[in-house]
Amino acid sequence: MRLRHKPWAADKLKAYPKYVTQNPQDFKGEWQKRFAKDQPIHIEVGSGKGKFIVEMAKAHPNINYIAIELQTSVAVSILELQLDAQLENLQIINAHGGDLNHFFSDGEVSRVYLNFSDPWPKARHSKRRLTSPKFLDQYQTILKLDGDIHFKTDNMSLFQYSLASMSQYGFVFRQVWLDLHQSDFEGNIQTEYEEKFSAKGHPIYRLEAYYPPKN
Ligand code: SAM
Repeated sequence: MRLRHKPWAADKLKAYPKYVTQNPQDFKGEWQKRFAKDQPIHIEVGSGKGKFIVEMAKAHPNINYIAIELQTSVAVSILELQLDAQLENLQIINAHGGDLNHFFSDGEVSRVYLNFSDPWPKARHSKRRLTSPKFLDQYQTILKLDGDIHFKTDNMSLFQYSLASMSQYGFVFRQVWLDLHQSDFEGNIQTEYEEKFSAKGHPIYRLEAYYPPKN
């Protein structure tokens, strides 16, 4: 996500430790303590400006949500939405979500959302894709046994890559959508990128997948 640099963003994020952390490893295994209620934790890696996760947190007060956004100037937009909404079930991590097993203990998370992740189209950058094996390894470790991954994108190449990568890793697809907005899927909350690309006529691809427990 390209955005103008906001030199004040880092200080603003630091001013609200109740909602934001830049040291998520300090809360490994103890995330429930940062929420009002002990309930399933759903994370989104690469939340952008936070429209999706803030609307999800409003719509599902029985879930605890954690937005993970790398860019300080972008993460501050999530904080601004949260300061308006004051949601007890939303936390923000401003850090690179490449070390998730340093941030969460095994089985601490019930669901991982990946929305319009950066496609990294060049083959030599494929390891940076959030559905590459290194990341899948981390999701499998931090997810509960019945946990799952929900992924959507308008990028056909990234979707194709992700289907293959997740399948080869051992994930099982519960459902796959090749045109989400023309389907009977109910309760879709659109992200900023989803609104932008669907307005241009791009179909939205979506999948839900889980890692089957070993016997
Ligand atoms: N999910 C939002 C949406 O659908 O509107 C934003 C999509 S934007 C293409 C991808 C976002 O993911 C960017 O804001 C980027 O900074 C963030 N991002 C990329 N890799 C990340 C990582 N490893 N950890 C945390 N954030 C990441």
